[in-house]
Amino acid sequence: MSEKLPLEPPAIQIQGLSYSYGSGQTVLADVTLSVARGERLALVGPSGAGKSTLLMHLNGLLPDRLPRDSERASVVVGGVPVRKSTVSEVRRVVGFVFQDPDDQLFCPTVREDVAFGPLNLGLSRDEVLRRISRSLDQVGLAGFENRSTLQLSTGERKRVCLAGVLACDPEVLVLD
Ligand code: ADP
Repeated sequence: MSEKLPLEPPAIQIQGLSYSYGSGQTVLADVTLSVARGERLALVGPSGAGKSTLLMHLNGLLPDRLPRDSERASVVVGGVPVRKSTVSEVRRVVGFVFQDPDDQLFCPTVREDVAFGPLNLGLSRDEVLRRISRSLDQVGLAGFENRSTLQLSTGERKRVCLAGVLACDPEVLVLD
């Protein structure tokens, strides 16, 4: 039986978002975008176009420019405005898989790395173990729990990153 997703609020809503790094060059200019729940969207563009920069706005990875409570939020995820005060809530809504697994993996074993997110959510040990097994299965790495993350291929390392994010059951999955 297929589960009907509620249509409102949209998964991602971006309105009039502009951004430039310290160098002053404008990377994002007045971006407006809405992604419905259940929708899959691919952002396509040449290297340096600003794709990663846009995605990093979805879970507050560029803290220098996060709006305060009194300021309008240009980015809203799952109904939560992305602001300084909402970053931890936003990061529960949005699971972010980095382009480079070296930016994401930091534990000695696959099990510890995948467990990190669910443990931070305060889940019970049994539930964390269930999530590890489920998410490794989802990415085709069942049985890799005890492997060292340093002794995996780049593709496997990327899949461990994805498993770690899936294990947190995010509403929105962002894949850079
Ligand atoms: P894409 O993901 O489409 O390849 P990026 O969002 O990574 O593009 O980069 C967009 C532009 O911002 C590029 O010109 C890049 O050089 C610049 N840029 C990215 N990160 C930084 C940074 N930390 N500081 C200064 N400029 C940056």
